[in-house]
Amino acid sequence: MIARQALLAVAMLVGVILPIGGAVDAPQPALKALESQKSIALSFDDIPRAPGAFYTREERTERLIAALRAAGVEQAAFFVNPGRVGTKDGSLELIEAYVTAGHVLADHSFSHRSLGAMPASDFLVDIDKAEAWLKPQRGYRPWFRFPGLNQGGLDQVKRRTVLDGLKARGLLVGAVTVDGSDWYLERLTLDAAKAGKSIDEDALHDLYIETMVQSAEFSDRLMRKTIGRSPAHMMLLHETDLAARYIGDLVEALRNKGWRIVTADAAYRDPIYQVEPNVPTSNGTLSEAMAWEKGITGPRWYDRNDARIAGALFNERVMHQPPAAVALTDLHRQCRVRHRGPHRTCPDFVAKAA
Ligand SMILES: [Zn+2]
Repeated sequence: MIARQALLAVAMLVGVILPIGGAVDAPQPALKALESQKSIALSFDDIPRAPGAFYTREERTERLIAALRAAGVEQAAFFVNPGRVGTKDGSLELIEAYVTAGHVLADHSFSHRSLGAMPASDFLVDIDKAEAWLKPQRGYRPWFRFPGLNQGGLDQVKRRTVLDGLKARGLLVGAVTVDGSDWYLERLTLDAAKAGKSIDEDALHDLYIETMVQSAEFSDRLMRKTIGRSPAHMMLLHETDLAARYIGDLVEALRNKGWRIVTADAAYRDPIYQVEPNVPTSNGTLSEAMAWEKGITGPRWYDRNDARIAGALFNERVMHQPPAAVALTDLHRQCRVRHRGPHRTCPDFVAKAA
């Protein structure tokens, strides 16, 4: 804690000195300390989300807010799908509770339809509908996150049209640099609970935290290779029961690895979020895309975003079952159906892009 406060003081000092006195006057050790500091903001997608395995939606929101507060997370970003907000289902009140707790709201499209499944013009109409709902809300931020992080896949014309449309609307792409497919662990947990199977909850806790911390560490190494520094990261999470349960421990685990949790506002001020990497297909994290554009070799995506790997780990560690033998062709097919086309997390796509 003392070390963190000292670093914060250094950060403030450097922030003041640099614009006035220039880099020459800046204390070198302080700069080094600042460069080695890893920072990350948290974001939660698909608000409001259907219930998970453990809580009602009200309980989940209450627990998530309390856990973020207890962990000292000042401001996280919640990416909303207004098309899923019912008029009388209490969703609005739950969304407002996040804002009252100090968090901010941004656009995840009205209907959560993938750009891969619709023309650019319809997609922009969907964004406009979401913006009309979001703009009057307290805590609104002009950020747009693509559903499924899908910026149009291989269709560069479509992608360009939408990116230009976002600019014309004053919207920043709400990109993420860190993704550990937390939604998939939530889905596997929910499926297991629905099937009445026994879940090793300690193992689930450990797997969730390990997976998300590793995803942050992975992206940070990749970014340092790509741009030569550690940017302010943005972690993709979803409004899940797992987050409501484990976010406090996740934040602690990140801090133990040297991460500082920053606000979403602060993270999106990093210049990397202005970058539009020119890559053949864009449907993943900004870290992957920037590394791809730069020609960085080696894995550019975190392996647990591959459903085969995450599923096998879940089966083995949480369900204490041997992983089911599934034919690779079935996985290709299921993955392509789920993502409406080739996707970076599909086994066949991964094999080609490696
Ligand atoms: Zn989403």
